[in-house]
Amino acid sequence: MSEVALAPYTYYKIGGPARFFVEAEETKHIKQGIEFASGKGLPFIVLGAGSNILVSDAGFPGVVIRLRSKQIDIAGDRVLADAGVSMAQLVSKAIASGLSGIEWGVGIPGTVGGSVRGNAGCFGGEIKDVIANVRVYNAVAREEQAMSPRECSFGYRDSVFKRKPELIILSAEFQLTEGDRGVSQERIREYAARRSVTQAIGSQSAGCIFKNISWDRPGLDVQKLLRRFPEFGQFAKLPGIPAAYCIDAAGLKGKQVGRAQISRLHANYFVNLGGASAEEVVMLVGVAKDNVRRKFGLQLEEEIQYVGF
Ligand SMILES: Cc1cc2nc3c(=O)[nH]c(=O)nc-3n(C[C@H](O)[C@H](O)[C@H](O)COP(=O)(O)OP(=O)(O)OC[C@H]3O[C@@H](n4cnc5c(N)ncnc54)[C@H](O)[C@@H]3O)c2cc1C
Repeated sequence: MSEVALAPYTYYKIGGPARFFVEAEETKHIKQGIEFASGKGLPFIVLGAGSNILVSDAGFPGVVIRLRSKQIDIAGDRVLADAGVSMAQLVSKAIASGLSGIEWGVGIPGTVGGSVRGNAGCFGGEIKDVIANVRVYNAVAREEQAMSPRECSFGYRDSVFKRKPELIILSAEFQLTEGDRGVSQERIREYAARRSVTQAIGSQSAGCIFKNISWDRPGLDVQKLLRRFPEFGQFAKLPGIPAAYCIDAAGLKGKQVGRAQISRLHANYFVNLGGASAEEVVMLVGVAKDNVRRKFGLQLEEEIQYVGF
């Protein structure tokens, strides 16, 4: 299909059309999409649930391959899930099979593929803690490969897949543990309740715009920072300083550019109030970066992925 509007395929509901659009239920469809792109000399991008991207108003001038693979297989305490499986489906299937360890993933609105790429996580859990191996298609070598967790080089919201876009995640195998369904379900209820306090459920956003500022970020002089801003000490037990805290402290909650707004509930969520353009979100990102840098001398880094910019 050509000239397909991408906004409906994103959580932000923002963005122009894809020049070409392919829905891939099987690996062969991914390969065909890549062949098609290379035959036309166009770039390609893989799309999961579209919950971590901002698509430009001009759209994407190449081939968008949307993954729709849905297979989940369970063998003992291992779960093998296609990249197109939603995190919610993965969690619910694992729990139904009496497996535990990935309950934290239930509120992540993305797919397995997008979540492995970004080493998604919340409530103290991360993909890297439960991954056993990842199957990829290398679009340059034109071959499938199995990758160990070490080869995936996972870091905070980071992996080798962010640096090597030619590696398309086809499936991932998760190592879980035997659990108790009742306990897992209780945990899920607790996570949902915690999310409802801090997030405007149902609003149009891409989740956290920025990564938190890890204490071990290269070049960060933690002692100097704590001397200047002792209030950051309250986050000493966390992996880093929440970006939301910095944006809030810079007085930006509720700040609007056009129809894009910094959420009043969670300052690291920039919401589309309806009819926002990508340009407006990008301007709001600039406002936040500028103000946080001036107040704390800290550089915010995007967690979201830009498409077509
Ligand atoms: C309300 C809300 C709450 C959120 N909460 C969290 C949270 O608690 N923790 C968290 O970590 N994230 C959170 N997110 C962000 C998002 O859900 C995750 O980053 C998710 O893992 C993205 O998956 P996706 O399928 O939507 O990826 P997409 O947005 O479709 O794609 C993101 C990037 O991954 C690439 N990609 C997608 N699939 C593949 C694949 N198979 N192979 C290679 N590359 C691929 C895309 O090209 C793109 O660059 C939240 C988002 C929203 C909207």
